[in-house]
Amino acid sequence: MNGTNGVAKLSDTYGIMTFSGDVMRRRLPHDIYEKLQKTMSRGEPPDPAVAGMVAAAMKSWAMEHGATHYTHWFQPLTGSTAEKHDAFLSPTGDGAAIETFSAGQLIQGEPDASSFPSGGIRETFEARGYTAWDASSPAFIYKTPDSATLCIPTAFVSWTGEALDKKTPLLRSIQALSEHAMRILKVFGSDKGVHHVTTTIGSEQEYFLVDREMYDRREDLRLCGRTLIGAPAPKGHQLEDHYFGAIPERVMGFMTEVERRLYELGVPVKTRHNEVAPSQYELAPTFELANVAADHQMLVMQILRTVAEKHGFVCLLHEKPFAGINGSGKHNNWSMATDTGVNLLDPREQTHTNMQFLVFLCAVMRAVDLHGDLLRAAVASAANDHRLGANEAPPAIISIFMGDMLSDILDQLEKGQARSTKTGGQLDLGARTLPQIPRHSGDRNRTSPFAFTGNKFEFRAVGSSQSIAWPNTVLNTIVAESLDYVATELEKRVRGGKGGKVEKLEAAVKEVLKQLVKKHRRVVFDGDNYSAEWHKEAARRGLPILPTTPDAVKALASRKSFELFEKYRVLSHRELEARIEVSYERYNRTIAIEARTLASMLKREVLPAAVRYQTELASSVAATESAGVKSPETRKRLQELVKLIGQLHAAIDDVDKYEAHRAGGAEQHARFVADKLLPAMNHARHVSDTLEQLVPGDLWPLPRYSEMLFIK
Ligand code: ADP
Ligand code: MG
Repeated sequence: MNGTNGVAKLSDTYGIMTFSGDVMRRRLPHDIYEKLQKTMSRGEPPDPAVAGMVAAAMKSWAMEHGATHYTHWFQPLTGSTAEKHDAFLSPTGDGAAIETFSAGQLIQGEPDASSFPSGGIRETFEARGYTAWDASSPAFIYKTPDSATLCIPTAFVSWTGEALDKKTPLLRSIQALSEHAMRILKVFGSDKGVHHVTTTIGSEQEYFLVDREMYDRREDLRLCGRTLIGAPAPKGHQLEDHYFGAIPERVMGFMTEVERRLYELGVPVKTRHNEVAPSQYELAPTFELANVAADHQMLVMQILRTVAEKHGFVCLLHEKPFAGINGSGKHNNWSMATDTGVNLLDPREQTHTNMQFLVFLCAVMRAVDLHGDLLRAAVASAANDHRLGANEAPPAIISIFMGDMLSDILDQLEKGQARSTKTGGQLDLGARTLPQIPRHSGDRNRTSPFAFTGNKFEFRAVGSSQSIAWPNTVLNTIVAESLDYVATELEKRVRGGKGGKVEKLEAAVKEVLKQLVKKHRRVVFDGDNYSAEWHKEAARRGLPILPTTPDAVKALASRKSFELFEKYRVLSHRELEARIEVSYERYNRTIAIEARTLASMLKREVLPAAVRYQTELASSVAATESAGVKSPETRKRLQELVKLIGQLHAAIDDVDKYEAHRAGGAEQHARFVADKLLPAMNHARHVSDTLEQLVPGDLWPLPRYSEMLFIK
């Protein structure tokens, strides 16, 4: 179908590469379609009879799009996606072949895949890993110029049923949250027709684009995704001329293709703009159910990377590709909604739903207060450590921004004060205790790591390269625990209280909210999160301050954390242990790779350039002075250079020494890396950056910040 000017309308291409919506409706018998819909929306396991029909329909649809292979697409603990392709083609034994794809092949796979990190869950003697179809996330066809593959979103578990991936715990956490959110709805009598509660996510993706040719010339970008050295450009974002500015044409070409590809895959990208830093951009989708949003987010990153190459760019998803310049995050907009479409964090017109809204809101506040350390751990990585606390990024201290209007309401709740908004002479439930809440507060606070933005929370500490599955798993779990607590408190009071149902409920809510606010309000902070005073104030309030990944992962390994994840059946003891182990290992390995890359660049590129310049200066001094002319300034420059070269040699030795050192187990080593290796790397960088500002342009072998950030 064409639009008016002969160009295909985007809405016509939306989702054409996914087995969902119209495609599914047209290709499945009506009753099978209905059954599958139910399975998908309720997150129930698919019935084998349904699976058989679905497999057949999927195969013929995929083959019509040129697919020759299928894959169970999963998300191991590496934080990326994994796939192993199998051909539909099966030889029949008589020299011919047919295409097959059975229910069994749809439902379960055994990719082996034993080399993924499992944190010790998979010893080789039991090295079986299975993938299981997640019918709640649509299958899709991934195309490259010469291939098409049917990708089936799956969970990845060991033969003992332990989760080896990021999807399984996310699904479990949604279930835990649903169970307790339903109890609260029941207390308010708003559970009619509601089957379950789910979480919705819209995650904004920030990224940098650099020219491919320059990227290729920097070993640090190629191996580590970030610059390990590089003096600041004379211009940064001081003029704020990039933010929301006109998008350069070449970048626009890239964005347009990214969006087209994502639309075809059913990813509802909505917004695009320039970000604060030069060469930094952002893309945001319309929110979706958490599980689908998490899968789609992985596709967003994949498509960004792939399409960038076609346009002569490289897309940097690293949290801090350039020192001294804003890093990239993934603002994770999160809310809870019923399967009937009611957003539970949306203040409504009627006050009785306001009461319910305040209960959910305060439950989240309690969760973040009690488990801010776990939220910090959920976003911990070597890369994100550079970002949290620097420039634009939210700090490593987790607090909540509520805004003036809600803060005022919290004041009232804490005092148990009444404010009358009684309307029309009828009993307006809760009206005597609670004021009306306007729906959209205009407040904006970009410095907060966890901000209430009108009808959702925005968890901004999530890193740009991270899978959003794990941060949301943690968020759902801590909120599930809080909803459980609040539901119990309310149920107790409503059951035992005096008066009619309405009075009991009103009194119960008032009392529970008052207690929640009293106890947990310390986590609310509406001021400037970047300020030094906040660090002092947060320490005074007793909020956890966990600046590095080793600090944060230690919190994840606390007893409180094990009990929480086990109680809500999100992670067993062993599953959490595995994630802790993998976090330390990834941290240690990432920084070891960076240290080796840094040493290599300094030895092979920076030192030789500096020494060449030293020779130039030395011959200049010698030649000038032998001609009988004094050259004190050049001589001074030479001395300065010789000194810096000496410092660089020493700094490289330190990096090499600390990189080679092994400090006990993964946890101790991570501590050592944070305390010794990283500072040594930073020092070496500092010396190198000073040299970069002295050495002539024609001798400096690496693309500079001013080139990488400003050439488009
Ligand atoms: P803002 O400009 O305040 O960040 P937007 O309306 O542009 O707000 O939304 C930002 C992101 O938040 C988008 O991805 C959007 O889909 C998402 N979002 C909006 N409502 C919800 C919700 N109820 N649950 C989860 N995400 C949401
Ligand atoms: Mg936003």
